[in-house]
Amino acid sequence: VRILGIETSCDETAAAVVERSAGGAGRILSDVVLSQLDLHAAFGGVVPELAARSHVSMLDRLVNQALGDSGVPLGDIDAIAVTSGPGLIGGLMVGLMTGKAIAMATGKPFIGINHLEGHALTARLTHQVAFPYLLLLVSGGHTQIVLVKGVGDYERWGTTIDDALGEAFDKTAKLLSLGYPGGPAVEKAAKAGTPGRFRLPVPMRKDPRLDFSFSGLKTAVRQMAEAETPLTAQTVADLCLAFETSVTASIDDRIGMALERFTERFGTDLEPALVVAGGVAANAAIRATLERRAAAAGFRFIAPPLALCTDNAAMIAWAGAERLAAGLPVDDLDLAPRSRWPLDEAAPALIGHGK
Ligand code: ATP
Ligand code: MG
Ligand code: FE
Repeated sequence: VRILGIETSCDETAAAVVERSAGGAGRILSDVVLSQLDLHAAFGGVVPELAARSHVSMLDRLVNQALGDSGVPLGDIDAIAVTSGPGLIGGLMVGLMTGKAIAMATGKPFIGINHLEGHALTARLTHQVAFPYLLLLVSGGHTQIVLVKGVGDYERWGTTIDDALGEAFDKTAKLLSLGYPGGPAVEKAAKAGTPGRFRLPVPMRKDPRLDFSFSGLKTAVRQMAEAETPLTAQTVADLCLAFETSVTASIDDRIGMALERFTERFGTDLEPALVVAGGVAANAAIRATLERRAAAAGFRFIAPPLALCTDNAAMIAWAGAERLAAGLPVDDLDLAPRSRWPLDEAAPALIGHGK
């Protein structure tokens, strides 16, 4: 099947056409993403109203470009998949309206996709990965450990009790005057940091719940920075390294525990896999730590290419294709957007489908 995907839940306007073979292999036929980074940079974060307006003015063009690039005539598209939550309601409405209009005009099925499901299934678009697998989603808005049991079948094992990890990077960068988005800036600064000059606690270490917490770290960085006058570039670098070291250790600890639980439940003969998704997966220290931890626990480590880790429409089209292949129902054209939509709530859709 060939699916047209649309993504407008946050600050990326995106459209893509993806193909899924009967055997389950994925192929991206086109994938266009327009980041609104410059639009929001001056405000130090995403401004919802500006985001929605920008989606309105750009989406039609991007959909046309995605269709054109793919070489697939609209009539040969099998379904339209659109992010229907979670996210900023204005942006979601823009994507849904456009997707519904195309579905109505062409008579093709319309599927609302949970953005998190898009992230969760991306690894299967780029790699051969069988269910179940463990997913670490680390982005600007989410930090979750999810057991992916099947399409539409998720168990959330842990989440952040305060800030998302990308958000913590962004806030830390802001208070150190490093600009937005903060993740790349903090990582770059940390490279020049002096190991051990500042020590930060490792949040949630050994906590039996598989949750995360990052807001205390950000506060600790603020207090340490305020105690340093003048705040030199070297001190900023040292603080960034301390922050990165501490969050990396926390992730290592949480994922280590999650991999143990996975193994207790499923054994080791099924070639288990740890999958990472979300923009923070760009961080080299975090990536290397996950790779090492996965190897030590006997897991394959799978990181989709970075462009597919951050927000895009190929993952939304792919999730639509996977849902169709799994025989899950498509949606009506009166489907409403949801600003909040936990991934494990997708499960009820399975009722009556023999799973
Ligand atoms: P969501 O997908 O949850 O709706 P989002 O669109 O903000 O949120 P992404 O686009 O996946 O998330 O990722 C952006 C986040 O990743 C930002 O918070 C950014 O600071 C962070 N990030 C990007 N590169 C790095 C890096 N090298 N190190 C740490 N964090 C990074
Ligand atoms: Mg984004
Ligand atoms: Fe996302």
